Amino acid sequence: MKTVNHCPRCHHELDEGPIMYRCANCCRAVYAADLENEYVAPLQPVAA
Ligand SMILES: [Zn+2]
Repeated sequence: MKTVNHCPRCHHELDEGPIMYRCANCCRAVYAADLENEYVAPLQPVAA
């Protein structure tokens, strides 16, 4: 099952997974659970 998920913020295609995805565009980590729930959390700065 290959589903292309997109970043909830910038809608760029997400890489990696399936538990946690990473947006190559805005460098934001997105959890699959968040995508499934269509829950968009406020952006929180994450130290590299
Ligand atoms: Zn993004």
